[in-house]
Amino acid sequence: MDKTKRKAIIAGNWKMNKTPKEAKELLNAITPLVKDADCEVIACVPYVDLSVALEATEGTNVKIGAENCHWAESGAFTGEISTGMLKEMGVEYVVLGHSERRQYFGETDETVNKRTKAALAAGLKPIVCVGELLWERECDITEEVIARQIKLDLWSVTEEELKNVVIAYEPVWAIGTGKTATAEQAEEVCAFIRATVAKLYNQEAADALTIQYGGSMNDGNADELLSKTNVDGGLIGGASLVAEKFAAIVKAASK
Ligand code: PEP
Repeated sequence: MDKTKRKAIIAGNWKMNKTPKEAKELLNAITPLVKDADCEVIACVPYVDLSVALEATEGTNVKIGAENCHWAESGAFTGEISTGMLKEMGVEYVVLGHSERRQYFGETDETVNKRTKAALAAGLKPIVCVGELLWERECDITEEVIARQIKLDLWSVTEEELKNVVIAYEPVWAIGTGKTATAEQAEEVCAFIRATVAKLYNQEAADALTIQYGGSMNDGNADELLSKTNVDGGLIGGASLVAEKFAAIVKAASK
């Protein structure tokens, strides 16, 4: 398998951090630091920051993503944001199925699938998050959990559409905890995801799929994680809020 055939992607997931003013400041600090990146660089930001983020990154190599979207085109869904709204703004990526949405906001594989299909239909590129709970890992059912999520989240996504999908493997026990999966654990599950996608689609489609690792990735451990064959990038929470740390991860992915 030739890793260089795949696009390395480093995406920041800002979560519920940074006001529009702070977002502008952070992006103004990030953009010059990552201008020579040899990988795709994305900042996924809160809805209210999207406008200012798109403005601050115009003409740079930093792309902007949202942190969720609804599956309906419009209608009585108070507080929700449609794919058309994001697309019209110029947003390119959208994080879907993040474990915090699954844990705190009732997100299920069914709704992740609906959002994924809607995002793809609108021309957005979904970053679909999957990952096991600590308890599931301890019960030795990581592969069952991941296979189920991949199958359900990608249900009825065509091979053509899959070209615009990014998968983020985020073990829930490693998110925001400072507890990173070892590079071997990350590689093992990312390879399993690729094998699952190969079974569902075919080897060529699986080999072309960008699979990120996420979970306390930082400037200190990025090199080792990203050196693994099946780890094509990172979805970065905490470290994406510090320009120098985020830029160091981008640098590691550019090697
Ligand atoms: C995330 O929110 O997707 C994430 C990986 O967070 P952190 O890097 O802070 O663990």
